[in-house]
Amino acid sequence: MSDIAYGLKALTGAIKIAKNLKDFQKQLNDSTFQLQISELYDNLAETKMGMAELKDLLRTKDDEIRSLKESLSIKQNVVYNDTYYQVKNDKGNLEGQYCKVCYDDKKKLMRLTKVIEDPGWWKCQRCLETFFEEGC
Ligand SMILES: [Zn+2]
Repeated sequence: MSDIAYGLKALTGAIKIAKNLKDFQKQLNDSTFQLQISELYDNLAETKMGMAELKDLLRTKDDEIRSLKESLSIKQNVVYNDTYYQVKNDKGNLEGQYCKVCYDDKKKLMRLTKVIEDPGWWKCQRCLETFFEEGC
């Protein structure tokens, strides 16, 4: 049973017991009353645990959703220019130089650095691949 269903079942049981206690308070003998109180506490404790687990689950899902939205946003703004990838910023301008090999393989945007001694060449410090850009 899921944490949510378990928590809701325990909560339903707790509410039912509380209603019984209210309706039959004067008719119940001490042992029945104590048993009902004990069951009520158990159900409330299980409800509390179920809700805490639910809270953690929702936080995990929120983190996953946020991460997926960020990945989707980046993916939608990645542009290839025949040499390397660039990312379109909020104003529509292309920024950076990112490794084609790393992005194609693992969807990682690894920034390229200029090879000072060879004008026009860029190098990925991760996979060590080099890229030549005409006109530089
Ligand atoms: Zn690379």
